[in-house]
Amino acid sequence: MSGEVNRIAVVGLGNVGYWTTTALGLAMLGGLTAECDIALVDFDTVDERAVRKGYPPWLRGWHKPKAMVAAINATYGVCVANAMHPVHAAAQSVPGLLADRDVFICVDSLGDAQFVSSLARSRWQCRVSTGVGELATHCLEVFPPDTAALSDVYDDAAWAQAGRRQSCMTGESARPLDGAAHPLGITAGALAVQAYLSRALDSVPYRLQVTGTRPLRSDLWGPARKAATCRVLDLDHGATIDRVLRDIARDLAVDVDDLMLTWETPLVRRHCACPCPYLGFERYPVSGRCPTCNGRSILVAASRETLAAEARELEHRTLRSLHAPAGIGLSAIRRDGRSQRYRLAYRQEDVPPLVGLPPSAPNTQLTEDSHA
Ligand SMILES: [Zn+2]
Repeated sequence: MSGEVNRIAVVGLGNVGYWTTTALGLAMLGGLTAECDIALVDFDTVDERAVRKGYPPWLRGWHKPKAMVAAINATYGVCVANAMHPVHAAAQSVPGLLADRDVFICVDSLGDAQFVSSLARSRWQCRVSTGVGELATHCLEVFPPDTAALSDVYDDAAWAQAGRRQSCMTGESARPLDGAAHPLGITAGALAVQAYLSRALDSVPYRLQVTGTRPLRSDLWGPARKAATCRVLDLDHGATIDRVLRDIARDLAVDVDDLMLTWETPLVRRHCACPCPYLGFERYPVSGRCPTCNGRSILVAASRETLAAEARELEHRTLRSLHAPAGIGLSAIRRDGRSQRYRLAYRQEDVPPLVGLPPSAPNTQLTEDSHA
């Protein structure tokens, strides 16, 4: 492992994500792990609940990823903090970033977790969760590279489930006021980092569940399947969907009319008070707000498939104007049924903006003495 850089992402910086990152920082400080390049991904802001779950109070109002780096900087110093890169975005907005990293999946929605898990299928991954019943439970689901994922595809059922927490029709929040203070994340985060440090010992996926003080480890003999080979399309978000289709057709040496594209995330139409309906890729969190008039909108169509005729209809629309996730993946399916996976190259400047969320706190710059 010496000389190698561990490319890691922590997705979701709530209770569990905060403590997982903290344990990673401690492991780095103690020299337990090689040089790391750690992306911290969350779209949220530190609020009162986040403070009760671990964030220092002086970080209230910061975007969580930058707050996390600031907390690491304050605790372990700039050498550890410099290995951590804040990404203020939803996981579904940055698939290209997550596809080539080991991931700690610390989100509470199963749909989101499945999405990240399927992206990182060729890498080591660990879903970290906690629960409180009569006894506290910590749960890790660990998948060594190329074994399996939480789901094989980001299917419509998973999408529907992700949408249940916020109405896909109106975007109105249906999430209850969760977030009681509890120390569970400390234990779960430490266990997850322990699993990462000992990953060379494990070749099959497993679940480790600790309920109270009783650990239970079970192998997960799921549909173990090697990750599909994926070709990178070197197009930026100035490209149109028609261009994507034509480049793929050329790569596969087929006619564009013999191809269908299936996107990772759906392309939706929404109606609002504006004369032109909204058209764009939809990513969690679904706000349901029109980016132009900021009014409530109603979902009228959602599809993950694009045919050549539809791509021509959209010929003037660029991936940027359609709010495409950065490094979006897709399958190209030929008329004979064979398919090939593709992913657009990831560029930070292509990360789509968050749409229709409440106005966020100032994106505070990290400085050495910003908490003084
Ligand atoms: Zn509008």
